[in-house]
Amino acid sequence: MSFKKDSATYTITPMYYGRFPSYEKSTLQMMTGQGVKVDSPSIGFLLKGNNRNIVVDTGPGPQEEMGRLHPTLEIDFPKEANVVAALAAEGLQPQDIDYLIFTHLHWDHCWNGEKFPGKTFYVQKSEVIYALDPLELHANVYEAPKAGMTPAWLRVVQQLKMIDGDVDIDDGLRLLLTPGHTPGGQCVLVNTTDGPCLLAGDTVMQYENWEGNGTQKHLFSAAHVNLLDFDASLKKIEALNAFILPSHDYKVLENKTYPVKGK
Ligand SMILES: [Zn+2]
Repeated sequence: MSFKKDSATYTITPMYYGRFPSYEKSTLQMMTGQGVKVDSPSIGFLLKGNNRNIVVDTGPGPQEEMGRLHPTLEIDFPKEANVVAALAAEGLQPQDIDYLIFTHLHWDHCWNGEKFPGKTFYVQKSEVIYALDPLELHANVYEAPKAGMTPAWLRVVQQLKMIDGDVDIDDGLRLLLTPGHTPGGQCVLVNTTDGPCLLAGDTVMQYENWEGNGTQKHLFSAAHVNLLDFDASLKKIEALNAFILPSHDYKVLENKTYPVKGK
């Protein structure tokens, strides 16, 4: 499953999209820290290499609208942190992006698609199907029609490239179906000069999830659809021997790019 020796390599730049200043810890790490609130960032990634610029997850929408749609959550999504601003800080415009990837279709990962006209968005077919008609418990997090909302990703529905399972979408770049958090969640395995790196989406929300607690090797997120699938996905990730970048951990933002030079 590892990349061929002469595969293309990429550098990975985390992009900060804002934060959940007071997020329930027991949602991030199930059955731990009930009632404890933690500050949790929302992170996407820019991949550069192989003559490509690729975006993984486009983050949440504007603060005011997100506040209206998700009134039970404390949020801080400053304009200057949205995906277009984050790319501009890297000297890139939306038209410079070759294609994009949604790890899954929870609202904090898939707004702003319309800022990338004509560009392809890779997503798992099983995620799209569930997002249209999720359990009521998950209707808000998908901004689903049954919650009276229109999912943000529908604005780019004609640009979706739906895939089914594990697919090499480019030289040195592989999508891996990792259900559990959602039915069609996917991770992005990226070849780097320092070995494979995994953009884990919400399959690993924070390093604490991956590192476990001494009793459990890894900690599930309380936001999930199936723990057996989740467990199998974590085992699938273990087998990769990859460096992991979660999507809601400040530690990821401590380095401007990956792989870290001189490490
Ligand atoms: Zn999620």
